[in-house]
Amino acid sequence: MNKRQKRTLIRIFLSAAMLILAALLPLSGVLRLLVFLVPYAVIGWDVLWRALRNIAHGQVFDENFLMALATVGALGIGEYPEAVFVMLFYQVGELFQSYSVGKSRQSISSLMDIRPDFANIEKDGQLEEVDPEDVAVGDMIVIKPGEWVPLDGVVLEGTSSLDTAALTGESLPREIDPGDDVVSGCVNLSGVLRVQVTKPYGESTVARILDLVENSSAKKAKAEQFITKFARYYTPIVVLAAAALAIFPPLTLGWPWKEALERALSFLVVSCPCALVISVPLAFFGGIGGASRDGILVKGGNYLEVLARTEIVVFDKTGTLTKGVFNVTAIHPDRCPESELLELAALAECYSDHPISRSLKEAYGKEIDTSRVSQVEELSGRGVQAMVDGKKVCAGNDKLMDSLGAKWHPCHHVGTTIHIAVDGIYAGHIVISDELKPDAKQAILALKACGVNRTVMLTGDAQNVAESVAAELGLDEVHAGLLPAGKVEQVESLLQQVSPRGKLAFVGDGINDAPVLSRADLGIAMGAFGSDAAIEAADVVLMDDNPSKIADAIAIARHTLRIAGQNIAFALTVKVLVLVLSALGKTNMWVAVFADVGVSVLAILNAMRALKRL
Ligand code: ADP
Ligand code: MG
Repeated sequence: MNKRQKRTLIRIFLSAAMLILAALLPLSGVLRLLVFLVPYAVIGWDVLWRALRNIAHGQVFDENFLMALATVGALGIGEYPEAVFVMLFYQVGELFQSYSVGKSRQSISSLMDIRPDFANIEKDGQLEEVDPEDVAVGDMIVIKPGEWVPLDGVVLEGTSSLDTAALTGESLPREIDPGDDVVSGCVNLSGVLRVQVTKPYGESTVARILDLVENSSAKKAKAEQFITKFARYYTPIVVLAAAALAIFPPLTLGWPWKEALERALSFLVVSCPCALVISVPLAFFGGIGGASRDGILVKGGNYLEVLARTEIVVFDKTGTLTKGVFNVTAIHPDRCPESELLELAALAECYSDHPISRSLKEAYGKEIDTSRVSQVEELSGRGVQAMVDGKKVCAGNDKLMDSLGAKWHPCHHVGTTIHIAVDGIYAGHIVISDELKPDAKQAILALKACGVNRTVMLTGDAQNVAESVAAELGLDEVHAGLLPAGKVEQVESLLQQVSPRGKLAFVGDGINDAPVLSRADLGIAMGAFGSDAAIEAADVVLMDDNPSKIADAIAIARHTLRIAGQNIAFALTVKVLVLVLSALGKTNMWVAVFADVGVSVLAILNAMRALKRL
């Protein structure tokens, strides 16, 4: 509980005690009014103050106004204890609400805990703690066991294991050796690490994630927008209705004025839309928080809505369904030794971050002398082209070879074939093969189980490779040999085929699929470890590499939407019921307050369920 909440709690107790005392005192007339005014002021001054201030700003109708009007009205007709009691309970509800908002914010901020406080810099053999924002790229930092990794970098010295749970929800630690990348937001578990910083704090994984989470509540779901709009029209209508209730029955039906006023006032008390206004956004907030605990970052409540209605899931292949770590299975040069072909390929690929490039460099295994390479050009979906030792080397697929006019020939090995041409003349090929991610099959099954009726894979790789992957995973559809633009076209034609309420999600690793990520109804990027493009382009970011998180995300989204729906239905039903009863004079102010606060509390408790892990 924070200070303000504690103060409210004290005010609640104080005014409750004074209310009881005032009720026991045998007073009458003005003296009685004065005695009740004290607890009323103690508990309600801020509500009155906000109502007045809003009126001064021209924004008359909100819940403060409703409460002020109802209680001042009650005082006016001599119902002093009721007035204090209404205010008292309203504040209890508010307290409850602010407490639970704080709670769900806290769980999102268990993520916020990843904000690093310091980084250790070595100076003259001494460690010095500095602000991570003051560390420059290229600086060396030391991370001791038990400390958070404050910045992204590459390990120069030391081995350790990292706890990535705060980022991914994954409980298994990750083993780290020299040369490995580390990202901020993990906890160093065992060894001392010396790390060279590769990104300034502002661009580090932690800073991006915090940014993303902090901004996620700005993107409202339709249900939240509905509630905001609803409250805007609803409140003035209710005030008018209450006025009508107070004025017309006495004039036309001859009701006593006091009774009509009483009804109108309890009508006002019940009408406060607090439960609705708070519990729906709170449910979405909880959903986003709960998902983030699982390593699923959702950039806004609106995306939870889209997730819940996902009908077609389209996957990129490399790095999404497969590991994107290729093993070289064959090297078939046409006119040079095997080692030379591999060297040419590795050199040409030296600047690329594509999984294929990384694997070829890995297979080459030696330090790359980049001074031998110039004029590097990446040809998305086809390969790379570069000047190596003064010769133009192209490495890529058959499309690239065709465009050069190089006479390539297919390979009998199954796998992704990287053809290489030197100065436009075919030099041979390297066959590499990728492995499926261990949970890829499970991911597709889980999607089917939750009612996603079509799974599609798009890839730039060759047909035979694509088909063998699709068959093994049980995908419904596969399109191979696509350039990035071709993937966009496929997604566009699939978008035509979803049902009117259904949605299409595209899942990629963020490497050359940003256009598709943004074209789909929902872009899901995975493996935020390392890939910046992913965090930027996507609507949902899976912190780790497991495609099975997609079905989890859908389940969380549906759970959240169900809760928001229950809250709307429940709050509206009770409200309408009590409104009608109070208009008919079947209730009094006491019941009205209980109904209002009760609904709020139940709706809030229900909303908190969205935070739970499924
Ligand atoms: P995917 O659709 O599976 O993610 P990409 O669109 O990234 O694959 O690439 C499609 C194909 O283009 C690859 O299978 C490969 O043949 C070729 N290719 C792409 N980038 C490179 C590269 N850097 N080096 C060699 N070949 C590449
Ligand atoms: Mg790709």
